Amino acid sequence: MIQLEEIRKDYQRRGQSLTAFQCESQRIEDGEYIAIVGPSGSGKTTLLSMLGGMLSPTTGRVLVDGISLYEHSVAERSAIRGQKMGFVFQSFNLIPYLSALQNVQIPLSFSAMPAIQQQERATEMLNQLGLAERLHHKPSELSVGQQQRVALARTLANDPQIILADEPTGNLDPSSREVVLEIFDQCHQQGRTLVVVTHDPSVAQRATRRLTLVDGMLVDENSTSAIAVPQISAA
Ligand code: ADP
Ligand code: MG
Repeated sequence: MIQLEEIRKDYQRRGQSLTAFQCESQRIEDGEYIAIVGPSGSGKTTLLSMLGGMLSPTTGRVLVDGISLYEHSVAERSAIRGQKMGFVFQSFNLIPYLSALQNVQIPLSFSAMPAIQQQERATEMLNQLGLAERLHHKPSELSVGQQQRVALARTLANDPQIILADEPTGNLDPSSREVVLEIFDQCHQQGRTLVVVTHDPSVAQRATRRLTLVDGMLVDENSTSAIAVPQISAA
């Protein structure tokens, strides 16, 4: 479970303070599939980065399974991240001079897993994502959709309970987008928690809950069922 408590994030810009996100309290239960939606500049990336232990709030606490992320050292926080979380970015962040296989091995190399097992696991992940023929290709030798699948394989290699994604389908053609969405659906069925920032209505639709941001504030919250069954007042 992820909890936000009395969170505010201010940025300093040209000597002025700007509140990019604020929220009194919010809970994300294990196994939820959350879409964060809102216009550009509304604070989506700021929120996701704070949830992921990558950006400390100006005030307030972020708790993951009861652990207050920003009351730990940077090293402890990365360890918690490595154990529990996986990230997916619009820009994939693949290392250009490493092969697909080596890229997927990166997170595993921080674990105690022997090298040969790391390679087996990375191969298995790439096979699952339909990239068995592409293990030794560099990112530049892959299509954009294939690159995102390599990035997904890398994210999932550590078997994270929580997946945080920032515009993961933003750069993809429709068929690659569908592949990514199906993997997210599978992850959801496996009981993982997904928090996905998106402009894409088809992504937002598949989520079980939407958090809508306007000017750094959560303005709305609709569960899928509340939309599917509109409330009709008694006549
Ligand atoms: P979104 O992801 O919804 O587009 P962001 O979280 O990136 O929004 O940004 C929210 C607000 O904070 C915007 O006004 C943006 O310009 C500002 N902002 C984001 N990052 C920084 C930064 N590092 N320094 C100053 N202002 C920032
Ligand atoms: Mg953003």
